[in-house]
Amino acid sequence: MPDTKTYTGGCHCGMVRFECTTDLAMVTACNCSICTKKGLHFTFLAPKSFVLRAGEDNLKEYLFNKHAIRHQSCIDCGVEVFANGTKPDGTEVVALNVSCIDGIELAKLAMTPIDGRNR
Ligand SMILES: [Zn+2]
Repeated sequence: MPDTKTYTGGCHCGMVRFECTTDLAMVTACNCSICTKKGLHFTFLAPKSFVLRAGEDNLKEYLFNKHAIRHQSCIDCGVEVFANGTKPDGTEVVALNVSCIDGIELAKLAMTPIDGRNR
């Protein structure tokens, strides 16, 4: 099991910056349309484990399908940094794009296949 650590990260141009605490134990490799086309790998965080440090006004929200997940991308560089969602029990959750963590090496992460395409 990986250790819980505090990470910093942000979008490509640097306007959007965050700090988060996670063990990166569960990182999605999802086959749904948006994860495939955007190359997204998410890890899910409680809102208290994710702090937006800069760029709140530099985000554009994107909604599709049932509008259950609010995808947040930088308006300058276009990188999706995170998404806001709600679990079936009503708990708020932040889906962080792990590719936005500073210095991350995707090939070294254990990924969990998700069959989002057929949900
Ligand atoms: Zn940006």
